[in-house]
Amino acid sequence: MNFDYDLVILGGGPAGLSAGIYSSRARLKTLILEKQTPGGQVLITEKVENYPGYFSVAGYELVDKMVEQVRNFQCEIRMGEVKEIVPLEKGFKLKTADGEITSKSVVIATGRQPRRLNIDGEIRLIGRGVSYCATCDGAFFRDKKVVVVGGGDSAVEEAIFLTKYASEVTIVHRRDELRAAKYLQERAFNNEKIKFLYSHIPLKIVGENFVEGILLKNLKNDKEFLFEVDGVFIFIGSIPNTSFVSNLLKLGSSGGIITDEKMETSVKGIFAAGDVREKFLYQIATAVGEGAVAAVAAEKYIENNF
Ligand code: NAP
Repeated sequence: MNFDYDLVILGGGPAGLSAGIYSSRARLKTLILEKQTPGGQVLITEKVENYPGYFSVAGYELVDKMVEQVRNFQCEIRMGEVKEIVPLEKGFKLKTADGEITSKSVVIATGRQPRRLNIDGEIRLIGRGVSYCATCDGAFFRDKKVVVVGGGDSAVEEAIFLTKYASEVTIVHRRDELRAAKYLQERAFNNEKIKFLYSHIPLKIVGENFVEGILLKNLKNDKEFLFEVDGVFIFIGSIPNTSFVSNLLKLGSSGGIITDEKMETSVKGIFAAGDVREKFLYQIATAVGEGAVAAVAAEKYIENNF
């Protein structure tokens, strides 16, 4: 059988791009299929300060360089989304909205998407004051009061970013201490525009056409009160984009794909890399390493099986 590609990589974030570099250099006929613009979550990260080799680099700049490098090795990047992977006797058929693609092997690097609070008003007011991306929407909140929900790296990093525009940023966190890295915490504590509401949870986002406030509950005394704000930014973690393989691959307790150390999934010939995996550390630095491993493992798989 003639396959369209040796390797199809699903997702064009750092993991997928890194896999593309390694597989194209190995002369595998490679396609990266990306649902939106290549870059993944890094594209909407204002500043990256923990990627070796760069003291500080804008997220879009870093991924622009990765994309340029991928293209330089003649790796094809195309827009598209795979709805289903069908294992063949040998190789795979990938079903997309535009048709079918056949490939000898597959790397899944589809990343994650923001977790929702699932409270009243949240979905209705998305784009009307509710946001999951400070870099995208922060400028709409010049001189306004906003709340950031969450206590991890994303929440604290994005709260710091929002102080460029907002007059006051209140971090609402469900526990007494933040989860974020200490250096981010220190920056937030030293920022006069950032306030903290610990041991509080959001119950409801209030507003007719736009956000007017958020109903909070103090977990220490069970008191509820309306906190008047113009914007609510939600950073309470993320969920892996694995629904299209949930019946095919072994997933972990948080829904991420389980792999071995060669990034191979429970189905031979399908590999996974980056944030879509069930793993210990979610970083650009780990994602690119896993992309490299997945591509080289795919190369060996093809050598041994075709
Ligand atoms: P995270 O580390 O999972 O933190 C999620 C935060 O939201 C936690 O503080 C959690 O509270 C809170 N939370 C979860 N569910 C909630 C709910 N239903 N209601 C209220 N609060 C809720 O997620 P993240 O900050 O998006 O980070 C994800 C990964 O990316 C992490 O590994 C992080 O290190 C990495 N990351 C790194 C950087 C960087 O290196 N600069 C930047 C961004 C993200 P608890 O603390 O009580 O669990």
